[in-house]
Amino acid sequence: MADVAVELVLRSTRVITPGGTRAASVAVAAGKITAVLAHDAEVPAGARLEDFGDDVLLPGLVDTHVHVNDPGRTEWEGFWTATRAAAAGGITTILDMPLNSLPPTTTVDHLRIKQDVARAKAHVDVGFWGGALPDNVKDLRPLHDAGVYGFKCFLSPSGVEEFPQLDQERLATSLAEITGFGGLLIVHAEDPHHLESAPQNPGPKYADFLASRPRDAENTAIQNLIDQARRLNARVHVLHLSSSDALPLIAAAKAEGVRITVESCPHFLTLTAEEVPDGATEFKCCPPIREAANQDLLWDALADGTIDCVVSDHSPSTADLKTGDFATAWGGISSLQLGLPAIWTEARRRGRTLEDVVRWMSAAPAALAGLDAKGAIEAGRDADFAVLAPDETFTVDPAELHHRNQVTAYAGKTLYGVVKSTWLRGTRIADHGTPTEPTGRLLERQN
Ligand SMILES: [Zn+2]
Repeated sequence: MADVAVELVLRSTRVITPGGTRAASVAVAAGKITAVLAHDAEVPAGARLEDFGDDVLLPGLVDTHVHVNDPGRTEWEGFWTATRAAAAGGITTILDMPLNSLPPTTTVDHLRIKQDVARAKAHVDVGFWGGALPDNVKDLRPLHDAGVYGFKCFLSPSGVEEFPQLDQERLATSLAEITGFGGLLIVHAEDPHHLESAPQNPGPKYADFLASRPRDAENTAIQNLIDQARRLNARVHVLHLSSSDALPLIAAAKAEGVRITVESCPHFLTLTAEEVPDGATEFKCCPPIREAANQDLLWDALADGTIDCVVSDHSPSTADLKTGDFATAWGGISSLQLGLPAIWTEARRRGRTLEDVVRWMSAAPAALAGLDAKGAIEAGRDADFAVLAPDETFTVDPAELHHRNQVTAYAGKTLYGVVKSTWLRGTRIADHGTPTEPTGRLLERQN
């Protein structure tokens, strides 16, 4: 990089680096960070200075759990709208989930269809997860070679018929195949038998919905997954953990050396069952938002590393599908644009720092997917940044959200943390909440 002229210098009194927060000037050339310099470093001739004063410069967030649904269910969401929401929210990389689009990302041909659709619409960098289905074991290796970051499976019904779940036997088969080529399996971990035997009382009461998705369903599925991962020495990741009862199982597995990582989501960490009004189906997701005491334990687990990352599970649908009662409404919460301020608001209330938030929402998800160019402000990484005014507040107005259907469980909430701008490879991709041109690239797994 030494012979590439510095084009841009980003300066702030608070730059969050892997070594801590400090006043610094970050030099950028050809879309990469070339150096993190002293705050008062001389700006090289020909370079442009962007001085953010006391606003915080953090690495662009990496959201490894996004349902873009494009092509096929583009009335739910699409690459244009989802990546604009991401850019406005300080996210510079997303990984798209393999289901809810038509086709799902379960063969190389399907992956190419999705990449063709995404290419011209991506305002942030976009990579893809593949899907592990009962009948596509032969497609897993080709998908891995084609550059997906790992494979998602369900252990209970996914909500769409083209993406069936794996039973324990097929889970073992797929996991053995994936482990054979050094891949990663990411798992929606709810046990179908526990869901079937839970009380089903459809209607507007949130308590009834919560009882229909009991903690035991998560706990059992996670225990089974740990057992399979141990037996095969496989690498697995638990998606959207909600049940705090599973934390001791996970902590013990990690201590024992089982290769397991875990994510949770802004809605589990900032919203509580107690506050969901009856009939408020915009709060429906699976697994469900649980009680405040459960949430406290999830925060403890973030602090001690039992939970590795926080990602959105942005999973929209059309507004009409989000209505009705809790049994029939689509399960999914849209938070691409709001995840950073939602988590920061709760983190600061609980005495956590922005450095913690960066670890959970940028460094750890980048590490999960092996995105070596992302997730930190240091020389050699992509020049991806978010500029945040952490002490400014705003009130969530659904009309200001860029995702396609402006349904949100956060409407009317006042949150700390205003994203002033977002930068991708040295180009400003959002300015005060307004996305600019699509300059995102399609990413493929490299190693
Ligand atoms: Zn999801």
